[in-house]
Amino acid sequence: MTATIERPLRRWAAPAGVVAGVLLGALPAHGQAQALSPRNASYTIEARLDPASRIIEGRQTLVWRNISNRPARELRFHLYWNAWKDNRSTWMRERRLAGDTPLSRRPDRDRSSIDVTTVRLLDPSGGEVDLSASQRFVLTDAGHADDQTVMAVPLVTPVAPGETVTLDLGWTARVPRTFARTGAIGNYFFIAQWFPKIGVLEDAGWNVHQFHAATEFYADFGVYDVRLTVPSGWTVGATGRELEQQPNTDSTTTHRYYAEDVHDFAWTTSPDYVEHVARFDGAPGGGLTPVEIRLLLQPEHAGQEARHFDATRAALRWYGEWFGPYPYDHLTVVDPAWQSGAGGMEYPTLFTAGTRWLAPEGVTQPESVTIHEAGHQWWYGIVASNEVEHAWMDEGLTTFSTARVVEQAYTPNYFVQRFFGTFIPWVQRDIALSRATVGNRLGTFRPASRSEAQATPTYLGFPGTISRISYDKTALWLHTLERWLGWPVVQRVLRTHYERSKFAHPTPEQFFAVANEVSGRDLTPFFDQVFRSSNAFDYGVDGLFSVSAGGRAGDGAYRTELIVRRYGEAVFPVDVLVIFEDDRQVRERWDGQARWRRFTYEHAARVRSAIVDPDRTLLLDVNYANNSRTLAPRADEAATKWSSKWLVWLQDLMLTWAFLV
Ligand SMILES: [Zn+2]
Repeated sequence: MTATIERPLRRWAAPAGVVAGVLLGALPAHGQAQALSPRNASYTIEARLDPASRIIEGRQTLVWRNISNRPARELRFHLYWNAWKDNRSTWMRERRLAGDTPLSRRPDRDRSSIDVTTVRLLDPSGGEVDLSASQRFVLTDAGHADDQTVMAVPLVTPVAPGETVTLDLGWTARVPRTFARTGAIGNYFFIAQWFPKIGVLEDAGWNVHQFHAATEFYADFGVYDVRLTVPSGWTVGATGRELEQQPNTDSTTTHRYYAEDVHDFAWTTSPDYVEHVARFDGAPGGGLTPVEIRLLLQPEHAGQEARHFDATRAALRWYGEWFGPYPYDHLTVVDPAWQSGAGGMEYPTLFTAGTRWLAPEGVTQPESVTIHEAGHQWWYGIVASNEVEHAWMDEGLTTFSTARVVEQAYTPNYFVQRFFGTFIPWVQRDIALSRATVGNRLGTFRPASRSEAQATPTYLGFPGTISRISYDKTALWLHTLERWLGWPVVQRVLRTHYERSKFAHPTPEQFFAVANEVSGRDLTPFFDQVFRSSNAFDYGVDGLFSVSAGGRAGDGAYRTELIVRRYGEAVFPVDVLVIFEDDRQVRERWDGQARWRRFTYEHAARVRSAIVDPDRTLLLDVNYANNSRTLAPRADEAATKWSSKWLVWLQDLMLTWAFLV
């Protein structure tokens, strides 16, 4: 999308295309003729990694266009790597709050930093203004006065709406031992959030937050032209496509990568990667374009390439068919080094997966992580909502979509236990995993269900539990909507959301408006419950009995009373199914509003059982064990009930172990 207003130019401002053309040189032959995004934050970067010292020397030219309706009197940049510089940063303080103290004891050599050494404003006529001395750290959120993850550069002349500025920045960064999936181990480097990155200027002002422990990222789209210099013989993987390799005289090689319509750039390098290439050829029905898939595999995972490719193809196919096509022609899958801590993370046109030395059939590892991270290309990479404030719009939609693709492409799949330091898997083929509970992470949601309203901006959520609300709760309420309204309705909601919001940073309110419009009903009461409140859902049977009606025969022989109750604060309409000993069934509809309701029956037989929400539409119910009651249970029923309780426990256990992706 290019719906940007161009305004009269100031002395040092020029349209993005003019300056970018000069700086980037001629566009590569495969460059998009039509921009998909506003492309208002474009970077030309040169970076050199010295693996021995773990130092990156970088220089970048940023072409930034003000697409807000307010003048920019300063520019704000993220300096994420300063979060791991010392223990006084917002990120480290919040990790301690979440109970993660070992990171605080990291030695200095394993920490990171980024120092911006020069900031120069470039004039198209060749002049420049040196702003290096005026850069300063700013606090954008309350508290943590020592945080150094946001840098402001005041401008002598404001950038008016529609105008463009060009900045040249020099910087030096130190690569950490991995924090937050970013860093090095041995000669494996995964480099993300690594360059001074401009924030997002909105009509309300700069939307730039300090780096928080439980939140991810938010940035504008642009074109990235990046030259990475690493030791010769090392493989490089990165956002975009590699255009060329240039050997240097000092045993290094410069790799040039180029990407359009992306909002971030990550890369990795190591001498150990084994490279494989495959293609996604679209889907049988047509409508999806081919994608070249590049896989950088660890040598000890040889033989698992088909597993990675098939899972990536499943994501490209089902996400493409359900929500809309993947708009790029390439995608890079990175298998991270053992103990690198870099697995399970998404970046534009590149993601890190995660596998094991032994990956038995019937177990969706590496598939689940691969599908999850590939799926982020839609909700994180292309739709690009503000993850710092509304993480659920990416992680929640991705968790829901992942479970759906896994069910579509990998049913049945089984529970696995691992032994001997997780090396040896034992697959339990009598325990097939359920999308509704395991896939949507009900087990981890349940204990955290009341911890936070989902409307709480993510960066203000409690670091130890906010992900349960962002990931699990969203997947559960989307699947609840699917069971309530039907998959065709939910699919159209998500497809319309994707189509209207791609490359456009949508808000929660825009999503809810699409849901109301497409479903043809006002879902506001539902979103009031699941989004704007921290209330939990819990319906159940509180009382059930049949008594003889005093010697009357026939239909009036027994009087049955059933009490159903709303134990939780949250409200949802539920069905109630009553089954009598003569197999007669009665299904009631209850709006679920009152705290309790009584149903009475006069019937020829005693009641056998009653169950609230028998179809389990309300997947958010935090205690399904109290939903049913059976009178005079027979032995086999008791066994069934016992085993289903054991399964719930098992699922909880597995979810506790699951990757936080
Ligand atoms: Zn994720």
